[in-house]
Amino acid sequence: MTNVYEAYSVINGKQQDGGATTIYNPSNLSEHVGILHDVSSPVVEEATEAAKHAQQAWASLSGLKKGATLENLAVKLEENKEDIATLASSEMGKPIKEMKGEVARGVQLLRYYAAEGSRSDGDVIPAADPQVHQYSKRVPLGVVGVITPWNFPVAIPIWKIAPALICGNAVVWKPAKQAALTASKIMDVFQEVLPAGLINMLIGSGSQLGNTLLEKATIDALSFTGSTATGLHAAAICASRNIKYQTEMGGKNVAVVLDDADLDKTVSAILSGTFTSAGQKCTASSRIVAEKTIMPALKDKLKTAVAELRVGEALDEQNFLGPVSSKDQYEKVNGYISLAKKEANVVAETETIASDQEGYYIQPLIVEGVDANHTLAQEEVFGPFAVLLEAEDFDEAIDIANHTDYGLSASIFTNDLSRSHQFLERSEAGMVRVNLETAGVEFQAPFGGMKMSSSHTREQGQAALEFYSETKTCAIKHNG
Ligand code: NAP
Repeated sequence: MTNVYEAYSVINGKQQDGGATTIYNPSNLSEHVGILHDVSSPVVEEATEAAKHAQQAWASLSGLKKGATLENLAVKLEENKEDIATLASSEMGKPIKEMKGEVARGVQLLRYYAAEGSRSDGDVIPAADPQVHQYSKRVPLGVVGVITPWNFPVAIPIWKIAPALICGNAVVWKPAKQAALTASKIMDVFQEVLPAGLINMLIGSGSQLGNTLLEKATIDALSFTGSTATGLHAAAICASRNIKYQTEMGGKNVAVVLDDADLDKTVSAILSGTFTSAGQKCTASSRIVAEKTIMPALKDKLKTAVAELRVGEALDEQNFLGPVSSKDQYEKVNGYISLAKKEANVVAETETIASDQEGYYIQPLIVEGVDANHTLAQEEVFGPFAVLLEAEDFDEAIDIANHTDYGLSASIFTNDLSRSHQFLERSEAGMVRVNLETAGVEFQAPFGGMKMSSSHTREQGQAALEFYSETKTCAIKHNG
């Protein structure tokens, strides 16, 4: 990149000055990508006030008019797809092909929720008295606080903001610092069609700015995606303030391989599920559980396939995966890699990095030789790493698959219809799949987890409309 992008918070349509932090490209640590001008906690209330003011006018518009604005946002996002994808890849290291796909997902989400502006938002309910007309309707919540992670810097903010807007709410958005250049670019693009104050975006640290949003701001709801530790903290504060909340959090997702699986297709899905985005997906497959009889053949194929993976700069379309996003991520993931090299056995590893640049590159790795209770099989690594676990039979495979505090996504690879159905029924995960990788749930389907992965609400599709609105039950008696 030649341009250095300057990122600002936006309140009531105006950019805010603030401190300056230089951002370097994780694919090439000598490349200066942008400057973050971060703000501090006192502006949070200003942003909330601006949102409150804008929300009243916005809520009074017809659904069709709101939908037309969302459609215009979709057009703007589509026009700027290349620039946004390139900036995000340079900021947090996601391969450019994946980033372009993610921006396209953002466009689809905006169009999906734009269309909701012309759909029914309630029911007519029969009343005991024929003179009473009884109905329910969805009404907005007011101002929604949105806190997002860095690993899907476009799709996750939009899958929260688009349904929030179509339900008549305004937004105060705190993106992750690691993806704030991208957030600012999205705001630049959206500002051309957005009413001032409808989305206010604040760049600053989670522990200060984010925490002020949770503890002090007069928000009416919070939608959070990030780690389980931060999500539980956010949920506790929202519960104490009786603010409606949803938290989508970490995962330790599993790919189960049964003895009749088509191994070529299975290995291809496992590589994609485990190593795209350098494994930094909440839905990444980080445990592979295989029946004993198929284990030797699976290991052979994984060894060959992982050795051939191409790791390198995020903007090079030839590369299957890029670096991890930051120094913190690099150190955290390498901690698990060192533990794996000490306590487990290598099954498959990528030998080389296809880049001369100094970056946060980590060689993809699959290990075996630890049991299902081991740290490597229990903690979310969030890097290009998976642990292989052996099961005697199908029942044991399901037990191991469910042996985790998390419950986000689970896949099975088999051609056996009966065992597929049993897996879908018995799996303790919010998204369960057969012959498909653990990642990649489509925008029109509910997205979310069970157990410690979620507050048990769902995002995307129709489920998001439930979160971003409240149901009002209305009854009117016609006298005479
Ligand atoms: P994180 O550290 O929990 O941060 C998430 C967001 O919370 C960031 O915007 C962060 O701001 C902010 N934050 C941090 N501390 C806060 C506090 N005390 N109060 C309020 N906000 C605070 O998570 P991350 O590292 O960005 O993302 C990776 C995690 O997200 C992984 O665990 C992954 O599994 C999970 N994830 C889950 C889903 C899902 O749908 N289930 C999807 C994607 C990612 P700063 O960046 O400024 O610290």
